[in-house]
Amino acid sequence: MKETWFYETLFPSVRLGLKVKETLVSNKSQYQKISILDTYQFGKVLILDGVVQTTERDEFIYHEMLTHLPMLSHPHPERVLVIGGGDGGILREALKYPVKQVFLVEIDKKVIEFSKIYLSAICRNSFNDRRANIIIDDGVNFVKEGKGKFDVIIVDSSDPIGPAKVLFSSKFYGDVFNILSHDYGIFAQQTGSPFLQREELPHVYRRLKKIFPFVTAFFAAVPTYIGGLFSFVFASKGINPMKIRLSEIEKRYRKLKLKTRYYNPRIHHSAFALPTYIREAVEGKRNG
Ligand code: SAM
Repeated sequence: MKETWFYETLFPSVRLGLKVKETLVSNKSQYQKISILDTYQFGKVLILDGVVQTTERDEFIYHEMLTHLPMLSHPHPERVLVIGGGDGGILREALKYPVKQVFLVEIDKKVIEFSKIYLSAICRNSFNDRRANIIIDDGVNFVKEGKGKFDVIIVDSSDPIGPAKVLFSSKFYGDVFNILSHDYGIFAQQTGSPFLQREELPHVYRRLKKIFPFVTAFFAAVPTYIGGLFSFVFASKGINPMKIRLSEIEKRYRKLKLKTRYYNPRIHHSAFALPTYIREAVEGKRNG
């Protein structure tokens, strides 16, 4: 029988290939080409404009890290904003906290609709949680309008190509700063593979450094985000995450009775350790 393969088109000279059981969705929305494939190795996979966004098998790594590092670095997050995140994974993790409200601002309602049908293993019932406010809009608009202050803002967007490009601009970061709560206000965003998308993290890091007192990065290895380490940026008005003792993170983690499969307090601490070549890149020093 003929084999069917999907090849990701994010990089010009290196590819991720996934053997496909079945194509569940292939749809052109107003913003992007949306595909959901059932694959042998990673289960159901969400693909936008040819780029793997999340998979049933390894989503827990990415969604736990991008949520719990900012959320557990904040002493008492109550109002949280997620921009993008249409698959519901970040929303699911943020709702594990005793938050008052989580706003999710997703530009493409079709991603949410298809995720509810085909990716329920990821979103579960998070979209129906009474604390979840689902808004269909460009995250740039929502942030500019400044609807109240947020303790934590997480950008879980696609890569800075297409509709997500604006979520990596200095103007956007300035607006984020203005709607973050004055005391601790924490911002986190995915910033790609520091090995294959070498400019993404340094560019974001340097733009945030001009606005926030504390900026650093953290890392995890997500199998379907090829290139080894995957990076995230962390910026805050009042919290240097490296100054939070491991015992304090452990205390918060235990008190919240969080159930996680990848994240744990020791991973939290170690994730902020910058490999030398990355530290040199974000500090603008020459590196290979
Ligand atoms: N975990 C994935 C990753 O790391 O690449 C991201 C997953 S999530 C599906 C990405 C979402 O960002 C998509 O649903 C996309 O529609 C949304 N998005 C892109 N640009 C946006 C914008 N300007 N405002 C709000 N949502 C946006």
